[in-house]
Amino acid sequence: MSNDRYQYHDYYQVDDLLTEEHKLIRNSVREWVKKEVSPVVESACQKAEFPRQWIKGLAEIGAFGPYIPQEYGGGGLDQIAYGLIMMELERGDSGLRSTASVQSSLVMYPIYTYGNETQRKKYLPKLASGEWMGCFGLTEPDFGSNPAGMLSSFKDMGDHYVLNGSKMWISNAPFADVAVVWAKDETGLVRGLILERGMKGFSTPETHGKWSLRASATGELVFDNVKVPKENLLPNVKGLKGPLGCLNSARYGISWGAIGAALDCYDSALRYAKERVQFGKPIAAFQLTQKKLAEMITEITKAQVLTWRLGVLKNENRATPAQISMAKRNNVNMALQIAREARQIHGGMGITGEYPIMRHIMNLESVITYEGTHDIHLLITGMDITGINAFE
Ligand SMILES: Cc1cc2nc3c(=O)[nH]c(=O)nc-3n(C[C@H](O)[C@H](O)[C@H](O)COP(=O)(O)OP(=O)(O)OC[C@H]3O[C@@H](n4cnc5c(N)ncnc54)[C@H](O)[C@@H]3O)c2cc1C
Repeated sequence: MSNDRYQYHDYYQVDDLLTEEHKLIRNSVREWVKKEVSPVVESACQKAEFPRQWIKGLAEIGAFGPYIPQEYGGGGLDQIAYGLIMMELERGDSGLRSTASVQSSLVMYPIYTYGNETQRKKYLPKLASGEWMGCFGLTEPDFGSNPAGMLSSFKDMGDHYVLNGSKMWISNAPFADVAVVWAKDETGLVRGLILERGMKGFSTPETHGKWSLRASATGELVFDNVKVPKENLLPNVKGLKGPLGCLNSARYGISWGAIGAALDCYDSALRYAKERVQFGKPIAAFQLTQKKLAEMITEITKAQVLTWRLGVLKNENRATPAQISMAKRNNVNMALQIAREARQIHGGMGITGEYPIMRHIMNLESVITYEGTHDIHLLITGMDITGINAFE
C-alpha cells in the first residue's frame, strides 16, 4: 500500500468517552502504523515475511504488555488503552496485531498472572522491551476447538520435568525466544510451562503456504524429551482455566482489533466510491453503493459502542468470558462482511495490493477461526443464555 490516506471514522462520537491519555496513545499508534507499517506491509505479505524491524517499534509505542504494571516493564494502562492499541495495529494488518496480542495477552499475561515473582522479574521486562519475543502453545494437530483432549504431557523426573508432544498453528513460533506451553502432568491436569529457545529437544519449524496472516510467522512447537527445569512451571494455575484466562484477554483485544480492519476497508471504500466515476457519476451516487456504505458505518458504529462498553466492564473486572465471546464473534464477522463489500466497491482494483482490502479479507479468515472459531463463540453464548452445553 504505497499511499496510506486512512482517516478514522467515529459516527457516534465514541471519542467523547475516551480520556485525553487514551486519545494520545491511540494517535501515536496510528501515526506509527502510517509511517512504519503501511509502506512495507504489502510487500511483507506478498513475500510472506514478518518484518523484524516492527518489533522495536512495537515495543517503543508500548504495544507489548500495555496493561502489565510498570514495575515489570509494562505500560500500566487500562483495558481501553489496550483495546485502542489493538484497533490501530489491526487497522495496519491483522498479522501485526496478532504478534502484539500474543506477546501481551498470551505470554506476558500468564507469566504475570500465574507466575511467581522470580519468573515475572526474569521474563516480563525483556518481553516488554521486545528483547525477547514469546509464543503460546495450546492447539495441537488433533485438538483445536477441544483443547481438553491435548496429548502433550510431562513427567516429573525428581529435579526436572521431561516434556513430549507437539503444538500446531503457533503464532510467532519460528522466532520466539520464549514459549508458554500448556501440557498435562502425570495426573492429566493441564499446567503451564515456560520453555526457552535452545532447550535440547525443543524445535519450532515454520508453517509455509498460508494465504492468510502472511505478515505473521506461524509454526509448530515440537517437544522431544525436552528437559524443563522445575522453576519453569507456572505455579499459580491448574487446569484449562489457565489457557482460557489468557484467551479471554486476547479475544477482548481481537474484538477491538477487528474494528480497525473494518474501518480501514470502509474508509478506503468510501474514498474510492467518491472518486471512481462510471456512467458519468461517482459510484457513490448510486443507491446500491450508498446502501453498502451506510450499512458498513452502521455496523462499525454498533461495534464501537459495544466494545467500548466491554472495555468499561473489563476495567471493572466485570466482563464475563461469554460477553467477550459475543464481542469477538460479532466484530470479526462484521469486519469480514465489510471487507467483502468493500472489495465489491473497489471493483477489479479491490483484488490488488494498491488497496488493503484483499489482504484484510484473507487475514480475517484466520481471525474468525483462531482464539475460538465463529461457531464455538456462538455455542458459548448459547450455553450462557440457556444453561445447556451444546458442545458435546
Ligand atoms: C494463523 C493462525 C494462527 C494461530 N495461532 C495460534 C497460537 O498462537 N496458539 C495456539 O495455541 N493456537 C493458534 N491457532 C490455532 C487456532 O486457535 C485453531 O485453529 C482454532 O482453535 C480452531 O481449531 P482447528 O483449526 O483445529 O479447527 P477444529 O477445532 O477442527 O474445527 C473445525 C470446524 O469444526 C467446528 N467445530 C468444532 N467443534 C465443534 C462443536 N462442538 N460444535 C460445532 N462445531 C464445531 C469449528 O467451529 C470449525 O468450523 C492459530 C490458527 C491460525 C489459523
